Amino acid sequence: MADSDPDCVFCSIASGAAGVPLVVDTAGVVAFRDVNPQAPIHVLVVPKAHYRDVSSLAAAEPAVLAELVAVGQQVADAEAGGAFRLVFNTGARAGQRVFHVHGHVLGGRFLGWPPG
Ligand code: AMP
Ligand code: ZN
Repeated sequence: MADSDPDCVFCSIASGAAGVPLVVDTAGVVAFRDVNPQAPIHVLVVPKAHYRDVSSLAAAEPAVLAELVAVGQQVADAEAGGAFRLVFNTGARAGQRVFHVHGHVLGGRFLGWPPG
């Protein structure tokens, strides 16, 4: 883990350097809208510190993972009547493309199961 990776797009967003509007900004995490939304509500919640995946974050800073989940709930309460799906793609074969852990907060429509 590094606190920040100069080549990481989500580090750049979390620091404010990228100029991306933040939906929520707390001590440990930020939330911002996914550039390619898969639902009416599609917000990404990321820790300010750089960890490659949710397991690494859970092991190192479980309180920040709890903060991330709470911010997901906060977004869902504000925008989706409290219902949401929180997804952590973990590893390339599970669809992870950005290796700075991020929770996808999806809501605002019926979400089928199982996922694709
Ligand atoms: P994943 O496939 O789980 O790694 O998810 C990466 C997500 O980040 C995708 O849903 C992308 O649409 C989103 N994304 C990539 N770059 C940006 C960006 N600059 N701003 C907002 N969302 C982004
Ligand atoms: Zn990063």
